[in-house]
Amino acid sequence: MFSFENFDLKLDTDFIGRNFIYTEEADSTNSVLLEKGNKYTINGTVFFTEKQLKGKGRKNRPWYSAKDLNLTFSILLAHKKYLSGNPVLLNFAGSLAVANALENLYQFRVELKWPNDVLVNGKKICGILIESTSEGSKIERLVIGFGINVNQTMFQGSYAVPPTSVRLEINENAERERLLAEVLNNFELLLISLIESPETILKDWKQKCSMIGDKISISEGEEVKYGIFEDVDENGFLLLKDQNNRIEKIHYGDVSLR
Ligand code: ATP
Repeated sequence: MFSFENFDLKLDTDFIGRNFIYTEEADSTNSVLLEKGNKYTINGTVFFTEKQLKGKGRKNRPWYSAKDLNLTFSILLAHKKYLSGNPVLLNFAGSLAVANALENLYQFRVELKWPNDVLVNGKKICGILIESTSEGSKIERLVIGFGINVNQTMFQGSYAVPPTSVRLEINENAERERLLAEVLNNFELLLISLIESPETILKDWKQKCSMIGDKISISEGEEVKYGIFEDVDENGFLLLKDQNNRIEKIHYGDVSLR
């Protein structure tokens, strides 16, 4: 059972997670916070569920998470200073928050995979998904959803990147309250840094992205491109160098090592 008191003791933020909603079951934590006319409006609200029935990743691909064992939650950003920023860099800030928390608490060596995954020992420990609603061209609400594998040990099905969890890596149960607080504490600091110096977020993210410099393939639907993962640009887009040394900017796609 998740202990709110324990989590709250460890939470050291001004606004992220100060409004905390705990639920046993929800369709998708992102969808709940984005639902039109819902009652959640406070910037930094965290919506947490023990069982996500329709958890999803990019392109609506499913996110599977066993009940009561992991961390599935979304953060609402409703303040306009966070809405006008670059969503890829926000994604990077989210990945870095998880990476820093895992490094601080369990001394993991974390790798980040473009654009939105957190890996430990080459396996996926966390997925992140940013979604927003807009009124015309103006973004009204933005949510950043996290699925972190904490104490789950069995993963059924087939995965493009094999899953792992904190428990599988340290061979003992991990305290979810402590990890969640640590992620949120880090995320708030990174959000501030994202506004004051986005280049720091970019630099820190790049440092943990071991694929930079590697030969990769990148697929988007039917189309597959090959080249070297040259770098990410100032907006977080992937720069792919082809065999003729031409650089192409990639906005979206699934990256694999070749
Ligand atoms: P991929 O991880 O396949 O490169 P992606 O980065 O787009 O894709 P997301 O959109 O973040 O991934 O998440 C959806 C994908 O994550 C699913 O297609 C599935 O392969 C994988 N997945 C689902 N549940 C888990 C889990 N608990 N742990 C690790 N991976 C999972």
